Amino acid sequence: MKAEIIAVGSELLLGQINNTNARYISSGLAEIGIDVHFQTVVGDNPGRLGEVIRIAESRADLLIFTGGLGPTKDDLTKETIAHHAGRRLVHDEAALRSIEGWFKRMGRPMTENNRKQALVLDGAVVLENRHGMAPGMLAASGGVHYLLMPGPPKEMEPMFTEQAKPLLAQIAGEDGRIVSRVLRFYGIGEAELEERLMDLLDNQTNPTLAPLASDGEVTIRMTAKTESREEAVVLLDRAETEIRKLAGEYIYGHDDETLVSKAASLLIENRLTISAAESLTAGLFMAELAEQPGISAALAGGVVTYTAEAKTAQLGIPAEFLKEHGVVSEETAAAMASSVLAKFSTDVGVGLTGAAGPDPHDGEPGGTVWVAIARRGGSMETRKLLLSGMRNTNRIRAVKSALHILIR
Ligand code: ATP
Ligand code: MG
Repeated sequence: MKAEIIAVGSELLLGQINNTNARYISSGLAEIGIDVHFQTVVGDNPGRLGEVIRIAESRADLLIFTGGLGPTKDDLTKETIAHHAGRRLVHDEAALRSIEGWFKRMGRPMTENNRKQALVLDGAVVLENRHGMAPGMLAASGGVHYLLMPGPPKEMEPMFTEQAKPLLAQIAGEDGRIVSRVLRFYGIGEAELEERLMDLLDNQTNPTLAPLASDGEVTIRMTAKTESREEAVVLLDRAETEIRKLAGEYIYGHDDETLVSKAASLLIENRLTISAAESLTAGLFMAELAEQPGISAALAGGVVTYTAEAKTAQLGIPAEFLKEHGVVSEETAAAMASSVLAKFSTDVGVGLTGAAGPDPHDGEPGGTVWVAIARRGGSMETRKLLLSGMRNTNRIRAVKSALHILIR
């Protein structure tokens, strides 16, 4: 099944808003193995929308529209599709009742154009709008499926995920079952990973393999299509084994697992406590961990010591030591880690120091970072990062690197 996403709205063409709907829908479709071949944006204009529909039907068999389902004159998506497909628009009783109920609760009179929002394509499956008024709908005509959803993301996103996606998975799955799995890599760039997996990426068709890089991590989504879930799982296991042979040392997780969620569960499961002394990340490491449910069992606390003076005053690292080794150094990171471990009496202590960039700091070029992990009993691991890029990217990568050392 080939999909085209058509975002309707002049405000998109004027650059007033981002097309987040297309992004949201695309990533949801990837999870159920439906390929998006095109994303189109068109203004609130029936002539041009009609043109877009004709082109889309020639190259896709699932057309997904967002926007233009509202009550105002410029909301014309349904009308244009109905006209185009020669379908009638009929009032959906449930939607009408829900719109009337809304006006009653608000104590406001309901105008005629609001009734228009309850119109749906004759014969369509109606998707309830739990966060607004205009219902969505899924209709089929001449081998093409049309999914229409409202423009506002807070209405569209739950409607898509809770109602439309399962229906689409069913339709797409009619010619086989689709199961996907994501492999997560850390410590290897996208280019190098693709190089290692070149043969697989070029020749593997079931499952298909789709790499994606972001924020210093790479993921590969494997999507298998078979008669049964069991067969799909066998194909996915087989592909994962092949990938592990070529780059297994960089795989840290599956599906929704992240570095921070893995680190948190590892600490909690092993009843380990942790503290952190942070310079360039200024609390980001602890903030990331704090988002994980149940982390209070592990996360004791920490200190932000941004200046050299603070490192001396708060962590007891002598000024002489900092001068001798430099603030951005392996020695300082290690001293921060062991000092915070002792201060909070935790099993693990983390030290993060570096030149966040873009400017050099204390003689080290921007993007130079030292990460240290101290463990109760005296063991110490350190890692140097030579990052480029932007200041905040570097701070995030420093945190990820510390989390990665923790879960290795
Ligand atoms: P309404 O009933 O609110 O009028 P609608 O279905 O008619 O909904 P539009 O009028 O096209 O939708 O858009 C309403 C708002 O939804 C826009 O002003 C914008 O804030 C948001 N929106 C529309 N399309 C998109 C999109 N593709 N991505 C992100 N936001 C969007
Ligand atoms: Mg509107």
